[in-house]
Amino acid sequence: MSRERLYRSEAIVLRRQDFGEADRLLTLFTPGLGKIRVIAKGARKPRSRKAGHIESFMRTKMLFARGRNLDLVTQAELVEPYRPLREDLVRVTYASHAVELLDRFTAENDAHPELYHLLAEALGWLAETRDLLLTTRYYELRLLSLTGFQPQLFQCVGCGRVVEPQDQYFSTELGGVLCPDCLPADPRRQPISLGALKTLRYLQTRPYSAVGALRVRRSLHDELETVMHNYLQHQLERRLQSADFLKRLRREHVSVTN
Ligand SMILES: [Zn+2]
Repeated sequence: MSRERLYRSEAIVLRRQDFGEADRLLTLFTPGLGKIRVIAKGARKPRSRKAGHIESFMRTKMLFARGRNLDLVTQAELVEPYRPLREDLVRVTYASHAVELLDRFTAENDAHPELYHLLAEALGWLAETRDLLLTTRYYELRLLSLTGFQPQLFQCVGCGRVVEPQDQYFSTELGGVLCPDCLPADPRRQPISLGALKTLRYLQTRPYSAVGALRVRRSLHDELETVMHNYLQHQLERRLQSADFLKRLRREHVSVTN
């Protein structure tokens, strides 16, 4: 099978690490190749023409050359710098959270164009939004939906019945709302307020353009953040465990067949 030596792709920089004397190891997210790791040669030299184009969160068009182990970035052309994400320390934090989350929910070389589109849009939203918390919650819910980890907010995760919009319970463990009849299903479930449940449902089902209409009190923001933080942590731990399990399975399979 012959492979072209050069190839092009748009890419968003998820992570940068120093590599060797003057190079950088970049973790990129691309529409057609998913997450890839490449080397930017000489990117840390002060006068490198490439260096200015290869910063975190930037959306660029890149030309790559196949390498023996890792491929190399040979050209980078800026598409969208998301400038406010670089100049505003608070926005930087939220953008970092957005790319880190995507990084942790994706495996390498697994193409997901919709996820790329979401990240590109979300960085634009985070550069402009007046409510960073709400925009972040919206992004988290979209990310979870696109990766197949969405919380169940409309039916009870215990019995499957439709859950009325009233004060209810949320089970991080079972992945969604729990009706009063099913409380014993998860001893660690937490109450969730009507406001929080309604807001999460709204964010999970509306386009981003509808988010600007919401005004959310600080206490509700705090509750939403706690619910989502616990949920994301739990899903990531499960994901890591299943990735380990798959790896182990593969190793065992290899040792059996060899
Ligand atoms: Zn139930």
